[in-house]
Amino acid sequence: MIVIRGAEVYDYAHGIRGTVQDVWVEGERVVAAPENPARYEVIDGKGCILAPAGVEIHSHFAGSGLDSVRRFLSSNFMALDSLAPSPEIVSERYLRLGYTTLFDAASSPLLSQSTHQDLDRMKIVDRGTYTLMGDHTVLLGALAKGNASEIRDTIAWLLQVSGGYAVKLVNPGSGFAWKNSSTLSGLDDPIGWNDLTQRKIIQRVVAAVNRMGLPHPVHLHARRLGQPGNQVDFLKTIKALEGQRAHLCHIQFYAYGSDGKGGYTSAAEQVVKLIESSQKLTFDVGQIIPGPAMAITADTSSMDSLRRMTAHPWISCQLEGEGGINALPLEYLPSDPTSAVQWATGMELLLRFPDPTRMFLTTDHPNGGPFMAYPQVIEWLMNRESRDEMLQSLHPAGNKRSGLSGCHREYSLEDVLAMTGYGPAKSLGLTDRGHLGVGALAELRCYRKQASIKAMFENPAWVMHRGKLVVKNGKIQGSLQGRTLLVRPSWDRERSKAIHSSLSRWISFQPEHYALGEKHQVKDGLEVPCS
Ligand SMILES: [Zn+2]
Repeated sequence: MIVIRGAEVYDYAHGIRGTVQDVWVEGERVVAAPENPARYEVIDGKGCILAPAGVEIHSHFAGSGLDSVRRFLSSNFMALDSLAPSPEIVSERYLRLGYTTLFDAASSPLLSQSTHQDLDRMKIVDRGTYTLMGDHTVLLGALAKGNASEIRDTIAWLLQVSGGYAVKLVNPGSGFAWKNSSTLSGLDDPIGWNDLTQRKIIQRVVAAVNRMGLPHPVHLHARRLGQPGNQVDFLKTIKALEGQRAHLCHIQFYAYGSDGKGGYTSAAEQVVKLIESSQKLTFDVGQIIPGPAMAITADTSSMDSLRRMTAHPWISCQLEGEGGINALPLEYLPSDPTSAVQWATGMELLLRFPDPTRMFLTTDHPNGGPFMAYPQVIEWLMNRESRDEMLQSLHPAGNKRSGLSGCHREYSLEDVLAMTGYGPAKSLGLTDRGHLGVGALAELRCYRKQASIKAMFENPAWVMHRGKLVVKNGKIQGSLQGRTLLVRPSWDRERSKAIHSSLSRWISFQPEHYALGEKHQVKDGLEVPCS
């Protein structure tokens, strides 16, 4: 048994805001204070802040898409190291920032074997991946028919053959249309399969996933990513969700107005006004960090627009029967007006959105920049002076074309700890972490209080995962084996015959070609129950 004594404890779920109190741990879990403890170890928390460990909801660090990234960066060691390090290094760096649960944001069903190989190398952390489905031929066929049980069974089958934790939709239907040389100009454009449109795909998949009770709702990457004036389309997508539970990712890339001359403006204020009241929606920001970055996405049509706009080289890998995986190198330059507006837009979204349990810190690593910049972003949020200094160092468009200078809010410690721990855990349906209630997993981070916010968040005094100290004074210790989190929703197994015949009819890949096949188990897999 362990007691952490004397630390200022933050536990958003239970309304604890910096109270000095004991936290008891036995085995893997937080326990109630025992009446007469016989033997126990004391960890001195005086001068420290103690909170549930960080949970990463959206980052790209595993799978075959990273190979394309590494191909671009092979001659630039600094960028390679920050944007596409090995899975071992990724897990160590996240642990040293106080994160113990990590989700990779996109894995192709056909190629998810490589994602799981990478996840398996991330020894200590708990981890998982979301399965890309929005352009999968068999699912599109089921969605076009609109038969609810067929849609449910196809989603469950795709999760099973890919070892996924959640359903990821990336500008759904657009990959299918792009391969047929068409682009979708709106939610109601037919994608080229009967009368199926993006609106119908989103609504039917969201309804199915919520009925199936998956712990995390549909993780949605909306249309018109990164384009000026796209806030109008983003708000239409929000309305199409009709108040249903969903997570919208990296929304900084959707919160742009237009200056009428092709230039970007921040539309963060309008976006927040519309989304803040939708209580069943959660969001992550996708903050950009000035410096090198790498666009990596399954959104082929947006990447096609981006490479035309930037004239940068790209690698696009298209898969039969589903969408593609694309990579394109980027650099956010402080002297560039668009980068300056993008930076200010992300900051504005974070500062204007009132609820830290529904808006989360991400950089959409490596799309907006490296996740290692989180402590810097936290400092900008908590300290207006450092934020203003940064704004002044960027192209004046960042100030002129955003409302950031009018945002006076400074995040509290409670806000920061909620948006990086409790909030994402809750959105992910992980009830066993993100809080310090009796029975929760002992996933803890402990920071030494100090003048520099950035230094404090860069280097926790220690980090605990499943009741074991895994980081102490910046050093990884122990050999704890983390788990790969996945879901196994119930479905009608009889349906697999129909799925097999759809595969035979429409594409050349058969069930055994899918990453895990239908019987293979994920190593160190841990099923999180559906409700
Ligand atoms: Zn992403």
